[in-house]
Amino acid sequence: MGILSINDGYILSSWHGGTLEKGCIRIDEKTGLIIETGSDVTPQDGDRQYSMPGNIIAPGLVVGHHHLYSALARGMNAPKKTPSSFVETLQYLWWVLDRALDEKTVYHSAMAGLCGAAKLGITGIVDHHASPSFISGSLKTMAGAFEKFHMRGSLCYEVTDRNGPDEGAQGIRENRDFALSHMKHPLLRGAVGAHASFTIKDKTLDGIASLCSELDLPLHIHLLEDASDRTESINNFGMSPVARLQIRNLLRKGDIIVHGVHLTDHELSMLVDKDVYLLHNTRSNMNNRVGRAFLEKGNWALGTDGIDSDILSEARSCFFRGREDMVPPAFDAPLAFLKNSQNVLGSFFNENLSELAAGSAADITILDYNPPTPLSAGNFAGHVLFGMESWAVRSSMVAGKWLLYDRKIQTVDEMEVMAHSREAAKTLYEKMEKLQ
Ligand SMILES: [Zn+2]
Repeated sequence: MGILSINDGYILSSWHGGTLEKGCIRIDEKTGLIIETGSDVTPQDGDRQYSMPGNIIAPGLVVGHHHLYSALARGMNAPKKTPSSFVETLQYLWWVLDRALDEKTVYHSAMAGLCGAAKLGITGIVDHHASPSFISGSLKTMAGAFEKFHMRGSLCYEVTDRNGPDEGAQGIRENRDFALSHMKHPLLRGAVGAHASFTIKDKTLDGIASLCSELDLPLHIHLLEDASDRTESINNFGMSPVARLQIRNLLRKGDIIVHGVHLTDHELSMLVDKDVYLLHNTRSNMNNRVGRAFLEKGNWALGTDGIDSDILSEARSCFFRGREDMVPPAFDAPLAFLKNSQNVLGSFFNENLSELAAGSAADITILDYNPPTPLSAGNFAGHVLFGMESWAVRSSMVAGKWLLYDRKIQTVDEMEVMAHSREAAKTLYEKMEKLQ
């Protein structure tokens, strides 16, 4: 353990509104923090030096909303019954997959998902987990995978009552146990997860609110992803999903509210006032044909919703979808959202993960990008949106430790992880066959 310095590259202080200048960044491996960074910083005698000429040294990329439990879904057979609505997509596809997951497949899903994320330069993930047949201990199982990779994360269990009477209480207990046992973990924290309120009964929602308040933890929930969330809520509980959360003092500053595609303008304004994070998942919204979120106001951040871990692809999709048929958000808005995903995760640690600065956590993504035209902080968004994709990712570190170096994962054997993952996928698919 000592001090390492990364020099000869261009330091991007932030993905949005930052500076880009040739310089050096010095990191204390013991604390995992940046000691100093800038154009006037030079490596010191005794530093372990890494020369990265021409590379861009940027704040580590974060997926602000993910479902690593879906990592083994890639390439699986279509469901036996073809869904004709969003709720049927859940019933015939995702709720079959999550019920088929057991301890082994939860672990290998996490390992495979983290492998993909690491290759894409991701240094942190805010995950939302479901495995109804294996609730108790599921977050600890996932944490084991995060620890193997040395990936930063926030984990929670998606509480729901959709599969039986004890399920809600078990989910709450899992969130509680995990959060309490990871209050001081160097890289992991808990949140209070909830699926979507239309699958949660009043008593369970009361328990979720109590836990948020008792441990002062943010709620991480899907809200109005599809219009059916509102109609189901009104039909079954007599009020809108937003009202059900509001009367329980949920929707507090820092809560992680995912999708929000069908929020009314009034509801969106209220969430802006509450200062919650709003998580946008462009490609998932398109895939599920749920509609378009209104991104003109609100504290929006970006997630992938389990599609993959490619947050730069998500930013580009957000941009192009935004251009398509309505008043587009600001040109560089996707990069502001990308930066906000880093803030979502940073808020769990009281760490600044969105800027490279003295005292910030040394979570860094390094890109080997040879620009065909002059590159500056002022036109950085243009380069990202029209050319700098995730293939440019060369290396990454989390809290001062290399996770990816020269495109090779440093913490696990990628070939072995993927071989185990393919085997686990086969057993998962067999179980899914029986459940359909
Ligand atoms: Zn989601």
